[in-house]
Amino acid sequence: MDLLLHNLTKTYGNGVKALDGIDLTIKPGMFGLLGPNGAGKSTLMRTIATLQQPDSGTITFGDIDVLKNPMDLRRQLGYLPQEFGVYPGMSAEDLLDYFAQLKGVSSSKERKDIVGRVLEITNLYQVKNKNVSGYSGGMKQRFGIAQLLLNDPKLIIVDEPTAGLDPAERSRFLNVLREIGTNHTVIFSTHIVDDVRELCHELAIVNGGKVLYRGTSQGGEEMLR
Ligand code: ADP
Ligand code: ADP
Repeated sequence: MDLLLHNLTKTYGNGVKALDGIDLTIKPGMFGLLGPNGAGKSTLMRTIATLQQPDSGTITFGDIDVLKNPMDLRRQLGYLPQEFGVYPGMSAEDLLDYFAQLKGVSSSKERKDIVGRVLEITNLYQVKNKNVSGYSGGMKQRFGIAQLLLNDPKLIIVDEPTAGLDPAERSRFLNVLREIGTNHTVIFSTHIVDDVRELCHELAIVNGGKVLYRGTSQGGEEMLR
């Protein structure tokens, strides 16, 4: 399903124009949103995730009018915010089992299957018995992905997930996203040019709340330099 953003604007109370007429069509696959700090990426991500309202514009996902019916989108959404929680001293497997129960999966066999699958996808199966609170930054990010995959979301939004990861962790994280991008619509924001170059078929470069470039990552090479 395509995600269509039309003429989104947002001016904060302090006068900062964080979104200044954003028009984008985002197709299934891995979509990169590239821009420096302050470009408006988080504002755009939160707006698509229905955590905040734009001043004007429309968002549609398939046949959902997102701003009118936010719940319809939320049911299909996986959102990994830039700052995420501190986890209690539980193993990844137990925590994911708990989250699956919260989502209403009552059969323990079914939960074991789902939890095993998301642990495999995020490459955490080997460390499923370790406490998440002791995970490295990259492992926690992958755990965040595992958690949102429990919902089987159609649209996945990941805000600056590689910020602060060391090269090995970053590369592991990008591999997980690459796999998920083969059968989901994934929007991935970053200020690191190489992230989108390695990962995304399509990207938008944003700054000052505007889309400066929209197209393939190859075509963006000139601008990315
Ligand atoms: P990015 O994610 O690309 O760093 P943001 O969306 O966080 O960009 O910020 C875009 C601009 O809006 C920045 O100038 C930022 O300081 C400002 N901004 C973000 N959130 C708020 C807020 N809640 N109130 C006021 N200004 C904000
Ligand atoms: P950044 O992308 O710059 O690292 P975020 O956009 O994730 O930061 O912002 C973190 C929190 O701080 C959000 O709740 C956001 O609304 C708020 N915030 C960000 N910039 C500003 C700002 N200039 N003024 C007020 N609040 C802000």
